[in-house]
Amino acid sequence: MSIATESNQHSHEITHLQQQKLYELLAYVSQNSPFYKELFAKHRIDIKNIKTLADITAIPTTAKDDLQQRNDDFLCVSRSKIVEHTSTSGTLGRPVTIALTENDLNRLAYNEYNSFLCADGSAEDTYQLMLTLDRQFMAGIAYYLGIRKIGAGIIRLGPGVPALQWETIQRLKPTAIVAVPSFILKLIQFAKDSGIDINSTSVKKAVCIGENIRNNDFTLNILGRKITESWDIKLYSTYASTEMQTAFTECGAGKGGHNQADLVIVELLDENDQQVAPGTPGEVTITTLGVEGMPLLRYKTGDICTYDDEPCICGRTTLRLSPIMGRKKQMIKFKGTTLYPPALFELLNEREEIRDFVIEVSSNDIGMDQVSLYVVPAELTDECDHRIRAYLQARLRVSPHIKYVTAEEIQKIQFSEASRKAIKFIDKRA
Ligand SMILES: [Zn+2]
Repeated sequence: MSIATESNQHSHEITHLQQQKLYELLAYVSQNSPFYKELFAKHRIDIKNIKTLADITAIPTTAKDDLQQRNDDFLCVSRSKIVEHTSTSGTLGRPVTIALTENDLNRLAYNEYNSFLCADGSAEDTYQLMLTLDRQFMAGIAYYLGIRKIGAGIIRLGPGVPALQWETIQRLKPTAIVAVPSFILKLIQFAKDSGIDINSTSVKKAVCIGENIRNNDFTLNILGRKITESWDIKLYSTYASTEMQTAFTECGAGKGGHNQADLVIVELLDENDQQVAPGTPGEVTITTLGVEGMPLLRYKTGDICTYDDEPCICGRTTLRLSPIMGRKKQMIKFKGTTLYPPALFELLNEREEIRDFVIEVSSNDIGMDQVSLYVVPAELTDECDHRIRAYLQARLRVSPHIKYVTAEEIQKIQFSEASRKAIKFIDKRA
């Protein structure tokens, strides 16, 4: 059998499995979910008419605001069946609760077990977890449960404190870490300052969470390059959200996060809720499969990325998601081009002439997006100014408004809202 036929057959099986699980989900929510019962009635949706995966488009999408405003109406079980109350920040300020049953926790463990297997994990590994396991944070317990299921060792060190991280690495010799990429950079810096030879330690790989380590073409971005230039470890990116209770994790090929087809149906939708083609940016929209507490149907995550449905060189035939390009709400339409803040950050981080920056987006008097950059230049000379402008013109094809400021001035802008973290993107649009 040729590889192509094999993968065709495989994708047939995936489709069949997803269809079965979708029928079960539709029957379940139409019985148990106050929110979806009402939605089906309002839009006169007869679930018997949904026969194939393509028919799912008959169901209206669900947004984060629905989940926030009607949080309890998404719950399909009695309170006594809930074992974990996890939460995620909402768009309207108030946190959103995602309640999990015992079965959901088992599903979460299975999901993360697959994720770590995908990221070349085995029982031989020991993972140092550099993230929180409390504060209702779902990812923390997901990693913990998944690693346990693999049979690997776990060191629950928590976030921050580079000195303690290194002391523990040297003492307990983990083979892998799970961390936020920018924190890995801090670890590297700390090691350099303290004379620790990082490349002779036991750590050989890192599962990276929360921030992109790759560009959209899967090459390492500046953050990914800065890490690997100093530290000879393999990086695996993973993308997940509390609402979907499922992770998209890279395999060793590093060509996008693999979809776990038995756990979610994923669609990438344009502004009119139409499926986009491979390689075209769309909003990640998910339908959870096998979730008991708070299942979601065609839930729009707000995250924009592209997908690839070609078989991966690792042998998996499931769809792969690119790094997240940005949040839908942060999309900038600037003089005919579409931009997301992370791509701009990447551009601005790349140049030594730019010491620090803040991007400000506002609406002009005809309602178009306007981009202003506050930049701390390496030097206040015409030559430096010229190099910055020429670079931005070449890379963006358009020229944003640039205002040069001092290091003190940019501090005031970055921390103006009593934020503990430097703000690099200010959205002043109506
Ligand atoms: Zn792969």
